Amino acid sequence: MASQAPRVIVIGAGIIGCSTAYYLAHKGATVTLVDRDADPSPTSRAALGVLAHAHGGNDALSCFYRDAHALHESLAARLYTETGIDVGWQPLGGLDLAFDDDDASRLRQLITFNQDRGAEAHWLDPALLRASEPELSPTALGGALFPQDARVDPVRLAAALLAAASALGASRRTASVVTSLTRDDAGVDCTVADSTGERVERYDAAVVTTGPWVGELVPDVHVRPVRGQSGRFVGVQTRHVVRWGNGQAVNDGTQMLIGATVEEVGFDLSTTAAAASELMAWGRRVFMRPPSLVQMSAGLRPKPRRGRPVIAALEGSGPLYVATGHYKNGVLMGPLTGKVVARWIIDGSPGRDMSPFTVER
Ligand SMILES: Cc1cc2nc3c(=O)[nH]c(=O)nc-3n(C[C@H](O)[C@H](O)[C@H](O)COP(=O)(O)OP(=O)(O)OC[C@H]3O[C@@H](n4cnc5c(N)ncnc54)[C@H](O)[C@@H]3O)c2cc1C
Repeated sequence: MASQAPRVIVIGAGIIGCSTAYYLAHKGATVTLVDRDADPSPTSRAALGVLAHAHGGNDALSCFYRDAHALHESLAARLYTETGIDVGWQPLGGLDLAFDDDDASRLRQLITFNQDRGAEAHWLDPALLRASEPELSPTALGGALFPQDARVDPVRLAAALLAAASALGASRRTASVVTSLTRDDAGVDCTVADSTGERVERYDAAVVTTGPWVGELVPDVHVRPVRGQSGRFVGVQTRHVVRWGNGQAVNDGTQMLIGATVEEVGFDLSTTAAAASELMAWGRRVFMRPPSLVQMSAGLRPKPRRGRPVIAALEGSGPLYVATGHYKNGVLMGPLTGKVVARWIIDGSPGRDMSPFTVER
């Protein structure tokens, strides 16, 4: 991008939008981050913030995932220096539990698969398992430990990214909806509506980070909402990310989060009694005494076609970019996504192979 201090609008202030605004501000852009909600991104607030380590593979998608995972530790330190906010990055390790022989055999295969690809993974027998996680149910037969799994607090991460971006001059406008976009070679016209009315604003570039709503602004991008509900519990502490079946639990320092349901209910953000029962049943199965539910939350994961996010310059080059479809790994992949998009806009190249992430698929 030729001009000095290019003006860039980031549309959607979820974890992807906050990450993009942060890295753009660091690269000297004049950033405007808008969100139609007064309190953006219920999805980030429902997320557990688990950063599961990825094994093997040197294809562009696997490399992106691994680099995204690795970025969190240094970013957490940098954000603490910049803002004083501790984003809660912790290398907790992940523990997958076996309650029957089928679980055990599947996990032993997973350990071998990971070890063959250079990732750390170990089997824990029942004695080691209970020493590692004293509050687990005694009926667990063993577990697979993945020491490289980590966690970050999604809400604090978004807050820190935003605070650091603001300190660099980025502005955030909530309760402001972008209703349409028109691009030409030199920039993007955005129609923005808020309580003061509707107007067209001109930017040098625009990044659409509107999660499952992306199709409203960029109809060629196919991402759908998949609701996930999680619960906050007290009465049990975990040291690791504990997983079994489709559920996982992680401690945030004061409470334990258990998640998450996977529900095809469109854009419905309600929490339900059925989901609360499902998570409580999971807690009863996994721990020696049942944790007590304090609060349920729901979010809409943006699910893309073919399992990989859309991180792309529309029509191959700027000035209109889209970054969404991170589904179950938006917290994990958000910062690297923002970093790559910022570089793409400001330097004219993403700096890595982004071919898995094109709109066409
Ligand atoms: C229960 C649950 C658990 C999860 N656990 C994990 C986990 O452990 N690890 C992990 O990595 N990920 C996890 N995820 C996934 C992760 O939370 C999501 O992938 C991520 O939050 C998506 O972020 P986003 O910025 O793309 O979308 P969003 O957070 O949905 O942000 C999009 C924003 O765009 C705004 N918007 C939409 N349209 C417009 C418009 N026209 N104008 C202005 N603003 C607009 C919306 O108001 C919204 O705030 C979980 C998700 C759920 C629901």
